[in-house]
Amino acid sequence: MRARVRDWLNQLGVARADAEDLVLACSEACANSVEHAPALPGPNALVVRGTLLVDSIVKLTVRDYGRWHFAPRTPEEPQRYDAGDEPGGLKTQPASHSGHDIVVIGASAGGVGAIAGLVRSLPADLPAAVFVVLHVMSTGTSVLPEILLRERTLPAAHAVDGEHVEQGRIYVAPPDLHLLVERGRVRLSRDAKENGHRPAIDTLFRSAARAYESRVVGVVLSGVLDDGSAGLLRVNLHGGATIAQDPEDALYAAMSQNAIDHVQPDLDLPLADIGPALVELAGRPPSREILTIAPNDPVAGDPGSLDPQPGKPSGFTCPDCGGALWESEEGEILRFRCRVGHQFSTESLFAEQAEGVDAALWGGLRALEERVALNRRLEERMRSRGQARNAERFERRAQESERNAALLRDLLHDLQSPRDVADDVDAGAGRR
Ligand SMILES: [Zn+2]
Repeated sequence: MRARVRDWLNQLGVARADAEDLVLACSEACANSVEHAPALPGPNALVVRGTLLVDSIVKLTVRDYGRWHFAPRTPEEPQRYDAGDEPGGLKTQPASHSGHDIVVIGASAGGVGAIAGLVRSLPADLPAAVFVVLHVMSTGTSVLPEILLRERTLPAAHAVDGEHVEQGRIYVAPPDLHLLVERGRVRLSRDAKENGHRPAIDTLFRSAARAYESRVVGVVLSGVLDDGSAGLLRVNLHGGATIAQDPEDALYAAMSQNAIDHVQPDLDLPLADIGPALVELAGRPPSREILTIAPNDPVAGDPGSLDPQPGKPSGFTCPDCGGALWESEEGEILRFRCRVGHQFSTESLFAEQAEGVDAALWGGLRALEERVALNRRLEERMRSRGQARNAERFERRAQESERNAALLRDLLHDLQSPRDVADDVDAGAGRR
C-alpha cells in the first residue's frame, strides 16, 4: 500500500521530504478506513474497490496536508509554507484563516532608515514572512541584515537560494542577486537587471504576486524614480494589498509618489503606521477579487523570453546591452524590455538615456580638446619651419575647436541628469 501511495505522491510531484510524512498519514487514514469499511463482496471486486479507496484517501489526505501546512504549529516553531507552485508541485489551498502573510518591501534612496523604522514597529510574532529589496550597488556589501537585527524584533538575514519560506523572518536580498519568491521557497538569481538594478524591487514583487497572489502585501518606501510601481501594480492585479509610504513622510518622495499616481495603492501611510497596518493585514483573510493575468498575456511573460517579445518594437535601444527594446503597457505603466530581459520603466529609461547623453557629450568634449591640441602642435611645427600661412590655418582650426569645446563644457556644466540625483542619495546603497 505504501508503495502505491509513494507512486501517487510522485505523480503529484510532492517533494520527497513531504512525501514520507504523507505516506505515514495516508497509511493511518487507510488503516482506519479499511477497519471501518463495510464488508465487500468477492476478491476481485475487493481489490478494485480497495484501489479506489486508497486513491481517494490519498487525495483527501494530500488536500488536508496542505491545510496542516498552512496552520501554525506551535508558537516556538516557525510556520513553513508549502511548495505547491514548484514545477509539478502540489497545489494546495490556503486555510480559511490565512491572512496577508507574504510581505514584500522595496526601497532605494533613503531606504535604510525607512526599512529599519518599519521593522522596529513590527511585533516579534508577526505571522508573516517579510522580504526586503533595497537597491544596493552590485559591487558593494550590504549590512542591512545587521542593521535590522539591531531592532530586536524579527530575525533578519540575507536570503539563501532554496531555503524555506517561514513566518516571522526577514529575508534580505544580497547585492547583485535578484530575490524571488516561489511557493514555499526563496530563490536568488543573476537574471538581467531591471531598471538598472539587481536586486530589483519590481522583480521581487512580481514573483511574490505570482506565487502567493492575494496573500501578498506590497510596500513601497522612500526612493527616487519610479522603481516599484510596476511590481506594486502586479501585486494589485493578483488581488494583494498595496501600501505606499506617504511621500511627505519619505526622505525621497518620488518612488512612493509614482506608486500612488500609477497604482492607487490601498493605503498611503506615514512610516509609523505601516507596521501596525501589516499586523492588521496579516490577520485579515484576503478577500479582494483576484484579477489574475492570463499566462498568455504578453505582460505576464518571463524576462528573457525569446520571440515573440511582449508589446511592440519601441525604436529605442537597451542602455545595458544595446539591443532593441519592446514596449508594453500594464495598467498606466509603460514598460520596455529587451530580448535578454533587461527591463525599464519610463523614468528609469529616461535616467539611463540621460546618462548616455552625458557620456556622449563628455566623449565629444574629449574629441574637441584633442583636436585643439593636435592643431596647436601642427601650428607650432609649421611656424618652426617658417610656413606662416599653414600655421595660421591650423591656428584658426584650433580656435574654432576651442570655442566649440567651451560651449560643450558649459552645456555639460548646466546639464543635470536624473541619474545624478539618484547617485547622490542612496544612503550608502546607491545605484550602480
Ligand atoms: Zn538589454
